[in-house]
Amino acid sequence: MPPLADLIAELSELIAIPSVSADPAHQGDVAAAAEWVAERVRRAGGVAEVISWGERPLVIGEIRASRDADSAPTILCYGHFDVQPPDPLELWESPPFELVDRDDWLYARGTADDKGQLYMLLKAAELLAAAGELPVNLRFACDGEEEIGGHSIVDWVATDERGADAAIVFDSGMVERDVPAFSIAVRGLCYFHVSVRTGRRDLHSGMYGGASLNAMHALMQTLAPLLPPHARLPAELRVGIVPPSEKEQAGWASLPAGPA
Ligand SMILES: [Zn+2]
Repeated sequence: MPPLADLIAELSELIAIPSVSADPAHQGDVAAAAEWVAERVRRAGGVAEVISWGERPLVIGEIRASRDADSAPTILCYGHFDVQPPDPLELWESPPFELVDRDDWLYARGTADDKGQLYMLLKAAELLAAAGELPVNLRFACDGEEEIGGHSIVDWVATDERGADAAIVFDSGMVERDVPAFSIAVRGLCYFHVSVRTGRRDLHSGMYGGASLNAMHALMQTLAPLLPPHARLPAELRVGIVPPSEKEQAGWASLPAGPA
């Protein structure tokens, strides 16, 4: 393992590129960050290219397993190299694009989302490959528009025919220091537009007020039974849920308590 100072110096290079995707003035920086990431894949012994996908770059690359690459599993690694705008600048205690160590915490825009994580993937791949111990094939697919809700990476995945045996979306946090978190599932999202109409035409509130059915009240009455009355969803909405195994429960019990 290289000295920590060397790792921080390398990460500082990526951090120093102000790849703010929301600001068109930084488009060149987003491209520069893409090049930086591609170069890291190459430095690890892989191949990588920066491709244009719409208006923004994607980095697509791969590093072959050290042994038996043709039969080794393939992991697709994702991280994003763009960052949120750093404003308001006056609230920063140190320049946003300068990686600073304060009390054992690294501060700078993108350190925790997502340049730090992406760098860890790239560096781990480089070190394992250099040692001849990379046990899997790695594919990299990284974008520069995650922070503005871009979908270039999703579109790319949809067109990619090679696929992978597993994917790492390394864009999340740690449970606490020295305890990394693997999110193995998300709870998903249901999104609806609901329209409620209770009359064929508008009615004057002064004339019909309390007597006619109010669409807002009808909507509230419809939705209220769906809410968890005692921190539990109604039974109808729990149909089909697989109870957690004892092993899962024991794992959860070992985690630090979250906010009450
Ligand atoms: Zn992120």
